[in-house]
Amino acid sequence: DQRLTNKVAIITGGAAGIGKATAELFLKHGARVMLVDINAEQLAATADELNSPDVRWVAADVADEAAVKDYVNQTLDQFGRIDVFFNNAGIEGKMGPITEQSMENFDRVMAVNVRGAFLGLKYVLKQMLKQGSGSVINMSSVAGLDGTATAAPYVTSKHAVTGLSKCAALEVASHNIRVNSVHPSPINTRMMRSIEELFSPGHPEEAKQKLERGVPLGRYGESEEVANLVLFLASDESSYITGSAYRVDGGMGA
Ligand code: NAD
Repeated sequence: DQRLTNKVAIITGGAAGIGKATAELFLKHGARVMLVDINAEQLAATADELNSPDVRWVAADVADEAAVKDYVNQTLDQFGRIDVFFNNAGIEGKMGPITEQSMENFDRVMAVNVRGAFLGLKYVLKQMLKQGSGSVINMSSVAGLDGTATAAPYVTSKHAVTGLSKCAALEVASHNIRVNSVHPSPINTRMMRSIEELFSPGHPEEAKQKLERGVPLGRYGESEEVANLVLFLASDESSYITGSAYRVDGGMGA
């Protein structure tokens, strides 16, 4: 049974990792999907791999307002509506104590993770308000609920996404639009490879073992395990759920 029949979804950060896994699952459930990513080459390769008549893609930096307007307009040109918005693009930035952080790193993490999420909401919600329906899933993290030493820019940005998500939910609830956030613990993607290297330069496997020991289920999650939650929040099965923050964290929050 298909759970997203006739729905149009935008997925940012759709070229890789959790965004790509979600695109695959959405397509399987009958959605038409617009992939958005800053990495045009990877995006084209992913679209090829998904090999579906229901996929389109547009290269965009989500921190750039003109590019955000463009991906929303291109989605409307191609598909005529937007039912689901997976506001997922994000970067980890550089690790290190606050006293050692460069403001360039702080600004770029905030630009992609916060400004990018805000801009996506700004233009996608305009369309959903016209339609009088929609479901938005904002990608936060366990880092949007808890702290981590040496990841202050990322943690700060993801806490901002958690708050933004609640504000948006309250603003549009009376228009039949739902907004929720998802909060994964370490998931097996390129981002974790990069974080392991940042935590233990030259010995990423040590960082991985240490991180996995902190997870009650004893392992990283897989992108598909996040995608399953996003599918539920995107579909009408979650019709009475808005303004909520969902952990998908192998037990880390317990
Ligand atoms: P990933 O690096 O595999 O994928 C992220 C994608 O976003 C990439 O394709 C990248 O090109 C794209 N992207 C980066 N900057 C962009 C920009 N400015 N504009 C458009 N696209 C951009 O990582 P992932 O693990 O799949 O991460 C997806 C989201 O999940 C991120 O927001 C991340 O913070 C969040 N998250 C990841 C984990 C994890 O452990 N992997 C845990 C919690 C939350």
